[in-house]
Amino acid sequence: MASHYHLVSKFWREIPHRYNLIGTRCGECKTVYFPPRNICPKCRRSSIGKMKEYKLKGKGKIYSYTIVHVAPEAFEDEIPYIIAIVKLDEGPMVTSQIVDCNLDEVKIGMPVEMAFRKIQEDGDTGAIYYGYKFRPIKR
Ligand code: ZN
Repeated sequence: MASHYHLVSKFWREIPHRYNLIGTRCGECKTVYFPPRNICPKCRRSSIGKMKEYKLKGKGKIYSYTIVHVAPEAFEDEIPYIIAIVKLDEGPMVTSQIVDCNLDEVKIGMPVEMAFRKIQEDGDTGAIYYGYKFRPIKR
């Protein structure tokens, strides 16, 4: 398990990729990658030109998680919150905040689904940024 700091900084770096869950799938071995890759590391040369855009369904299970108590200033209102590594049904892992979930409910293996949410509001320009987060699948 990585440190809190590492997980949080990785989370914020990935924001530009978060507007769509579009990955790529290798035409040879059918492995799905997210974020997208141009070449399949398993098939290498034989995957060139065979990587196709692939829309992920946005469902998966919590692989590991951490509860964040210290956040960048713009996100202080939200602490404590849950950051998890989600293993998508198609195979790739993504790092995401878990919403609509009490801190004492989160557990490894919990089924989750993608939900679009406000990520950040820029107080100076009024711009609001959206991206995906994950929430528990209610049964
Ligand atoms: Zn492949």
